[in-house]
Amino acid sequence: MNSEQILALTDTCVKCGLCLPHCPTYRKAVQEADSPRGRIAIVQGLLNEQIPNTYSLNRRLSRCLECHACEAVCPSKVPVTHIIDATRAILTARQPRYKRSLRYLLLNLAVRPAILLPLVRYYQHSWLRLWIQRSGILKFLQLDHADNLLPEYPIREIRGG
Ligand code: SF4
Ligand code: SF4
Repeated sequence: MNSEQILALTDTCVKCGLCLPHCPTYRKAVQEADSPRGRIAIVQGLLNEQIPNTYSLNRRLSRCLECHACEAVCPSKVPVTHIIDATRAILTARQPRYKRSLRYLLLNLAVRPAILLPLVRYYQHSWLRLWIQRSGILKFLQLDHADNLLPEYPIREIRGG
């Protein structure tokens, strides 16, 4: 789906707000940007290049749980999750090549635990983690949230103890 097609879908939203009380992320954050209507407005702003593509706005889109609760109550049948997915695909395609390559590498590692787990253990218990966290690289690559979600592995497991 291209930008024009996505924008045509966003135009079906009449901004009535009926979906807001049904959206779990809106109920938790109580912020328009974390609601279905707010996410549609973000998509319109980004694809029309009226607002800059920032880390913070990307987070608002990626926080969508894809639960479809908004779509179930929407009188206009706006396909909110489809709009968000298609927009994120476009935004990813617009990223610089090195960022896409790194994401591809990490996704491939994620399905290979035999390789990934020793690397994670080493990362967690070496100087590397502190250095990377302080360098700001994680935030730049939008991986700081993923870093916070990493389960902690005991150091003895590195040595197989
Ligand atoms: S997504 Fe549907 S329910 Fe939500 S504001 Fe738009 S038209 Fe209304
Ligand atoms: S699909 Fe996303 S925007 Fe819609 S109700 Fe669920 S979390 Fe909210």
